[in-house]
Amino acid sequence: MSVNKDFFQPERDFNYDFQSAGKPPTGWSEAARVPETLVPTHCCFCGVQCGMFLRVADGKVIGVEARDFPHNRGSLCPKGVVAYQQVDHPDRLRYPLIRRGGKTGQLERATWDEAMDYIVSRWKQIQAEHGNDAVAVYSGSSMTNEKCYVMGKFARVALRSRNIDYNGRLCMSSSAVAYARAFGIDRAPLPMTDIPLTHCMLAVGVNIAECFPIVMQWVWRARDKGAHLIVIDPRETPLARTADLWLPVRPGTDEAVINAILRQVIVDGLVDEAYLKERTNGWEEVRAAVEPFTPEEAERLSGVPAERVVAAARLYGRAATSLIMHGKGIEHSTHGVDTCLACINLALARGQLGKPGGGTMMITGQGNGQGGREVGQKANQLPGYRHIDVPEERQYIANFWGIPVEELPWEGAAAPEMIHLMADGEIKSCLIACSNLMVSLPENEVVKRALQRVDPLIVVDFFLSETAELADVVLPGTVWCEDEGTTTNLEGRVIKINRAADPPGESREDWRIVTELARRLGRGQFFPYQSAREIWDELRNASRGGKSDYYGITWEKIDEQGGVFWPCPSLDHPGSPRLFTERFGHPDGKAKMFPIPYRPPAEEPGKDYPFRLTTGRVVYHYLTGNQTRRLGFLNSQAPEPWVEIHPQAAARLGIVNDEVVRVRTPRHSMELKALVVPTIRPDTLFIPYHYGHEHSVNQLTNPAVEPNVKIPEYKACAATVEKLSAPTAPSGPGDVTINFTPENAPKMFPYTVGETKERPAKEAKTF
Ligand code: SF4
Repeated sequence: MSVNKDFFQPERDFNYDFQSAGKPPTGWSEAARVPETLVPTHCCFCGVQCGMFLRVADGKVIGVEARDFPHNRGSLCPKGVVAYQQVDHPDRLRYPLIRRGGKTGQLERATWDEAMDYIVSRWKQIQAEHGNDAVAVYSGSSMTNEKCYVMGKFARVALRSRNIDYNGRLCMSSSAVAYARAFGIDRAPLPMTDIPLTHCMLAVGVNIAECFPIVMQWVWRARDKGAHLIVIDPRETPLARTADLWLPVRPGTDEAVINAILRQVIVDGLVDEAYLKERTNGWEEVRAAVEPFTPEEAERLSGVPAERVVAAARLYGRAATSLIMHGKGIEHSTHGVDTCLACINLALARGQLGKPGGGTMMITGQGNGQGGREVGQKANQLPGYRHIDVPEERQYIANFWGIPVEELPWEGAAAPEMIHLMADGEIKSCLIACSNLMVSLPENEVVKRALQRVDPLIVVDFFLSETAELADVVLPGTVWCEDEGTTTNLEGRVIKINRAADPPGESREDWRIVTELARRLGRGQFFPYQSAREIWDELRNASRGGKSDYYGITWEKIDEQGGVFWPCPSLDHPGSPRLFTERFGHPDGKAKMFPIPYRPPAEEPGKDYPFRLTTGRVVYHYLTGNQTRRLGFLNSQAPEPWVEIHPQAAARLGIVNDEVVRVRTPRHSMELKALVVPTIRPDTLFIPYHYGHEHSVNQLTNPAVEPNVKIPEYKACAATVEKLSAPTAPSGPGDVTINFTPENAPKMFPYTVGETKERPAKEAKTF
């Protein structure tokens, strides 16, 4: 197995052997040609949305060049530099496909008319027999705001179905709800360029160096100026390797550590009482709630040595400006909202929200994860972050769309719940756009049975994903640079995606596909769009007056300013890079604090399953890998998943590096190679989640969901690992009990209790 984790060596981009990688990327041999034009746009992958130029010659995208955009300053990560190779890739879907001969038949070429007629006739029949909600839309957040907006409107106005949700549900919904509850606004409070202004960074459950490499330049700038870095993670990630302090937490127990850090901040007299009194509600309840979380109790619950908890509290608590950055490590949890709220409590207690460089920052994973949840494709939301169950907000959107409010459906099923409705036969047909459920949802076998029951299952995508393989109709959509529109990055900065090439073959922009379906459903008058710009103008007007007010954001202003941060309520408004400087988004202007109890993961290790299994990303892949697994360089670096296991645990089980082992959970098992590394807790296993079929780790993960936002518990479940050659009985918990000592701890923090060594500040720079 070639798992290259040494990705900081830039020469790897050039030494890679295309022959051995299987599929040479198309366009590579043309990359040396002089480009005819450089199209300014952004990367299609993660929530950073780095600026880039695409090199275009003879109507084809042939390469990429640096673009000095404010948040990436010309840098791209390994995914960004090869993203363009999707455009003319041989795997692209170029014409519609229909499965002929029933569910066991083959996908065969069809015309658009045939595919559209079939879909619409079946939908009309299903809705007449079973009601409008029997047809659902499962959308995505890697699409532009314009496409996401049209998906939401299509479901509610054309299909008149309540069942629409999106894959961002599986990504950032914990943070979204926590920020909305605490601050009244769901958005990162400050731009990335503020990071160098902080004196201490606390990274909780976020592997920034691998998942968001370009954010690292801002982390390094903060470090160069003397900022401390604390990392809470079950693995010593590339970020943790550079930290002052690593807190190796048991998966799923982070809130015990955060609460204990807050308690210690109180004990040390580091709370900003004046700020709490003036700008927050609920502090006394929070103070009382964290009292039981002594460092020793935190150690018992989380496995983090008590002295590290104390040291973290002092490093964090004594910093004049501090920033908590958090990601999927805490959000993919049955108590993800609570853990995000615990982080917010800590930052508020230190008076950090509203300060340049201070506060909290969610690191959104999906390309348009932020915009995708604001423009009305979430089950409970309407455009402008309006709520579907608030009468005046329903009325506003119904009036705007020109439909009677009684016609506007109420909240439907969340994404994971749709699977159960499909399995139960309540959802009879589903249109899936830009989402790969067969890799992304827990319990893949259950998902497969549910999708196979849906008829017709319609998938809009540009590659034949594991989900599209099950479809009855596949409609070829476009990659990002074959259309134009906007996305909203992890900072809340709205940016412009520009068109660099025409869609190949008969493929069409996703918004054209659904507007044509709407027309055939007899609702075309509500979807008169001839261009993405017309959709944008409707969207920003629909959002006017809402929490996420895009009204004042024009495409021209985006170009002039290097992106525009919402809220931007008027055409002469410059946008809002920093939030909460004076007041929070609640009517009284104050932040709300919530007492957070400790709750263990939904599934704890035991005799048969003594390990905790956690999952995550690697630098070479994006989400379900439907795109990145087809790009030669990226796939050559990480062609298949592996299971990381600590040498201490591996030795006890007789497992050696590169050996194929079996990982089992109460749901399923899979076979994959072992990567024996000292950078993981001895009681924990890690498997990356970018792979499909027998390589999908979501065969194993726990389908339990957070009760309010329904995000699944991807990051912690009980598991066991065993040799294939001589299966052993599962080792009991005692065999893998972690006990960090200087001999077995992969990294010892450089501080002792009571000593918070100051990093010498280097010469201050301005950014
Ligand atoms: Fe693309 Fe994200 Fe990499 Fe930037 S950091 S190049 S947006 S994948």
